[in-house]
Amino acid sequence: MGRYTGPVCRLCRSQGVKLFLKGERCFTPRCGVERRKTPPGPHAAAGARRRRPTDFGIHLREKQKVRWVYGLLEKQFSNTFDTASKTPGVTGSLLMQLLERRLDNVAFRFGFGESRSKARQIVTHGHILVNGRSVAIPSFVVKIGDKISWKEQSRKGEMFKNLQAGSIGKRPVPRWLKAASDGASGEVIALPEPTDIDTTVDTRMITEYYSKR
Ligand code: SF4
Repeated sequence: MGRYTGPVCRLCRSQGVKLFLKGERCFTPRCGVERRKTPPGPHAAAGARRRRPTDFGIHLREKQKVRWVYGLLEKQFSNTFDTASKTPGVTGSLLMQLLERRLDNVAFRFGFGESRSKARQIVTHGHILVNGRSVAIPSFVVKIGDKISWKEQSRKGEMFKNLQAGSIGKRPVPRWLKAASDGASGEVIALPEPTDIDTTVDTRMITEYYSKR
């Protein structure tokens, strides 16, 4: 299954919840969920009633919700789940921890992108260093002590200046990360705990979903 390239607000409307995929717009009345309460599609618009979802459907929706929030392909998501399930501990919590520790998510948390998809672009375009070395891999998993920073050269570009005027320093940085005062760098000072993760998700449903494979 490829990456979804359609209007992302449809994903939120299909779930009936805000997934915060568009940055600042998600906090304004222009948000798709605020404007249209119905699921996407002609039948929903015509008032057709949805069938009661099956257990499988409920588990699938929860899995899709998290996958869309972090912008992963199905294969990437199931690989991350497999890694979590092979690690001692609670699989659901470990899954969320691995997703949070992705470099594209960390860049987003530091405000290096208005949304996770924008932060991913910044990583893939090679603007980000981890411990002084260029890492252009969004799925790179950070660890405690890692220092994340913008390349010196990239700090002179328009993109960085726009981010400084926009998302850098505007969102609260989670307590497992420490942002430097220059807004261009930060450090991983702990591993994310379940209470640090702001995505509302029932991870037991995701575990259920993959247990039936
Ligand atoms: Fe979802 Fe954001 Fe679009 Fe609202 S604006 S529907 S939260 S992506």
